[in-house]
Amino acid sequence: MPERTCVGCRAVLDKGSMVRLTAVEGRLKPDLDGRSGGRGAYVCSEKCLREACKRKDSFQRALKTRVEQPEAEAVWEMVRTTGLKG
Ligand SMILES: [Zn+2]
Repeated sequence: MPERTCVGCRAVLDKGSMVRLTAVEGRLKPDLDGRSGGRGAYVCSEKCLREACKRKDSFQRALKTRVEQPEAEAVWEMVRTTGLKG
């Protein structure tokens, strides 16, 4: 299993245990089946998503594209309702 770095805590973990996030039309969206093309940013937990959302540019830097400052609650809600995590 390839490893990825969490943008929240910088831990390096199996990508299968993390949530992949991509930029879709300038907005941060979870990519739970890993099919969305382009660069992905990874977080290992809701806490790390919140941490990363607090820091301006953390996702822009990871994704190398412009994204609106994400709201952690809204993004995590998408993760939860898709049902693969939490
Ligand atoms: Zn983390």
